[in-house]
Amino acid sequence: MSFVIEGNGEQQVEQLLRKLLGNTSFGSWVGGELVLGKGDTITLVNPATGSGFLQYSDATEAVVSLAADTAVLAQTQWWALSASARGQLMWKCGAHIRDVAESLAQLECLSAGKPLRDCRVEVAKVAEMFEYYAGWCDKLTGEVIPVPTSHLNYTRHEPFGVVTQITPWNAPLFTAGWQIAPAICAGNAVLLKPSELTPLSSTALAKLIEQAGIPVGLVNVINGLGNTTATAAIANKATKKVIFIGSPQTGGVIASACAQRLIPCVLELGGKSANIIFEDANLDRAVAGAQAAVFAAAGQSCVSGSRLLVQGTVYEEVVERVASATRKLKPGLPWNEDTMVGPINNAKQFQHVTALVADGVSQGAVVAAGGMADNISGGENGFFYQPTVLANVHNSMRVAQEEIFGPVMSVIAFEDEDEAVATANDSRFGLAGAVWTADVGRAHRMAAKVNAGTFWVNSYKAINVMSPFGGFGESGYGRSSGYQGLMEYTQIKSVWIETAQNAAIQFGYAIE
Ligand code: NAD
Repeated sequence: MSFVIEGNGEQQVEQLLRKLLGNTSFGSWVGGELVLGKGDTITLVNPATGSGFLQYSDATEAVVSLAADTAVLAQTQWWALSASARGQLMWKCGAHIRDVAESLAQLECLSAGKPLRDCRVEVAKVAEMFEYYAGWCDKLTGEVIPVPTSHLNYTRHEPFGVVTQITPWNAPLFTAGWQIAPAICAGNAVLLKPSELTPLSSTALAKLIEQAGIPVGLVNVINGLGNTTATAAIANKATKKVIFIGSPQTGGVIASACAQRLIPCVLELGGKSANIIFEDANLDRAVAGAQAAVFAAAGQSCVSGSRLLVQGTVYEEVVERVASATRKLKPGLPWNEDTMVGPINNAKQFQHVTALVADGVSQGAVVAAGGMADNISGGENGFFYQPTVLANVHNSMRVAQEEIFGPVMSVIAFEDEDEAVATANDSRFGLAGAVWTADVGRAHRMAAKVNAGTFWVNSYKAINVMSPFGGFGESGYGRSSGYQGLMEYTQIKSVWIETAQNAAIQFGYAIE
């Protein structure tokens, strides 16, 4: 399928918005329609060209308040439906997403700057999320607890009501679907605040959800800045829980704001994951795995295997092979079918990557591949950075401790298993990790000892909506995906029914 872009992609975005949202002006999706904000003007920039293609106004408190009122009403309507009716409507969301999959992928590609082929995969995953949680709607059963009295005691999983979800720019549609699907499965309404840099696909998703028959106003997308629109959503009394996906710095701000209101939050934050290669590994596979771990999505992935830990005996060989494979990756404009590595999403992030690589070099890291801005034909003003391998990195350097969130791999040597574990765990983060080895015992030992919410053996980046995902340490708390992710969106009620005739009413019998 060819996707031809002219200039900055302005015209294509306009066509896609007309098709998916029925409108070319842009704002928030509230109560089944686009509502224009009245706050500061925000300009969306094409990451591949570096120039603006659309402007909209920050939603601010006025739109948030309208969305919250709408969500409260829609939630009552939604929860009143039978569980199987809710499941059937959620299943239809999957079909609606698949019907316009290519348009969604194109919109995501243009605004997030991700390679089109990756966007297609993400759209399919979003459809899968709605289908998976559709199946949970009528299986969210409680328990009967054999209490020692004559009571029937059972539990109910009840929704919180309205939840606020705040998402980042690196996987806008994926993170929106990832959180909306379990939230509505559990009976909640949603206020979703996507990154102000990449709001288009999430807004289109909200409309698709309504087209599938989900009540209007159940999923609202409030578009604007973090410190205005997201802050207003957290402060709104309708919000009963917050799910935040983003940087650790902002995560702290969100957790404090939730603490002020005594509402819970889930934090899905950053990482500095260790991808560990032992000398007994199949090095062909390990080298390919190391590439996929870092350079897909140009390193803008929370689980990026940005620290490559390599056993000393094969260190030189692995560095050479990884560097050579890195030079063969195909960077390019994200809408070209063969592009493997696209641009960094925005100028600020591009500067962060550039500065951290320079810092690593000043500390003694050696550039084995890449190491500078990339010059892509047609994307001369875009935010392209060469896929980069830094060798001779010590784990105390900033390039080994800070999240780079760009196409940069720091290669660190270790001598034995104990040192590999110590180095992997010498990090404030704990999002993911992996080991490459032929020794099954060692694989299990490493899986048990590395501090990470997700761990792979002879693999990297395998994730699925069925399996729980989340961080250890400063990578966050709470879980997304699977049954565990669904549980974050319910609160448990314990119900006691007296079954004995004329049972004595206990005075003072309670938890004390
Ligand atoms: P960010 O923290 O800058 O922004 C994330 C969201 O928070 C945006 O919607 C933003 O508008 C909002 N925000 C910013 N300041 C705010 C404030 N003061 N109050 C309320 N909301 C505010 O993160 P980013 O740069 O967009 O995303 C990159 C980060 O996201 C990386 O650290 C990455 O690892 C992380 N991430 C984590 C996961 C995960 O599942 N663990 C997934 C994807 C991305």
